[in-house]
Amino acid sequence: MRKNIVAGNWKMNKTLQEGLELAKGIEAALAGKTPNCDVIIGTPFIHLASVVDAIDTNKIGVAAENCADKASGAYTGEVSAQMVASTGAKYVILGHSERRAYYHETPEILKEKTILALANGLTPIFCIGEVLEEREAGKHFDVVKAQIEESLFNLSAEDFGKIILAYEPVWAIGTGKTATAEQAQEMHAFIRKTIADKYGNEVAENCSILYGGSCKPSNAKELFANKDVDGGLIGGAALEVDSFMGIINAF
Ligand code: 13P
Repeated sequence: MRKNIVAGNWKMNKTLQEGLELAKGIEAALAGKTPNCDVIIGTPFIHLASVVDAIDTNKIGVAAENCADKASGAYTGEVSAQMVASTGAKYVILGHSERRAYYHETPEILKEKTILALANGLTPIFCIGEVLEEREAGKHFDVVKAQIEESLFNLSAEDFGKIILAYEPVWAIGTGKTATAEQAQEMHAFIRKTIADKYGNEVAENCSILYGGSCKPSNAKELFANKDVDGGLIGGAALEVDSFMGIINAF
């Protein structure tokens, strides 16, 4: 049975102190409760080790927002998957559209990052999604399929089975414009079919596919009610305890 997941992506927000306060605030809000989903927080590299130490990571998983496409060595400023894993973080967000667009991460680079993440025991939260022009041109299904094929279909079924996918239509990220529940379900069902065609029904049925893009407490319930939407990857609304909890409680 696939998991329901609500994951925060803090992006480049919060000082270390503010991040610790937020992480502890989420933990306090969850105290004594058993949410109907796994909860993950994705933090900047600099927060990872402290956040892992500050909270019970059996209740709240911790994710990096990126890792290097090389194992180790002379790559000034980079952070390897092994380093991320050594903090106790269990997840890594890969292929976010901001990384693809602003840092020129290609499908080939993302393939390498995924291999290294898996080799170091990290669970990738792998992001895919089309830009507005691609949707308007009716190419969104082809674009998303190619993103999955080019970076992930080299994996064995066993390794693919460890991946969490996040469909994030770029036109919905930080814009306040959410995909409708129908648009999300339509794409998520297509993604699951794409996986089934390659790896079979069991792998496809077990894959958690999250939606991301202006997800907030007011629309999360409607999005998560769809049978192929297994949770959310949350940006802006993950930066405050109340709004993040509102999304968790949508399950
Ligand atoms: P917003 O929730 O701020 O639209 O961001 C979504 C996102 O990019 C999560 O990775």
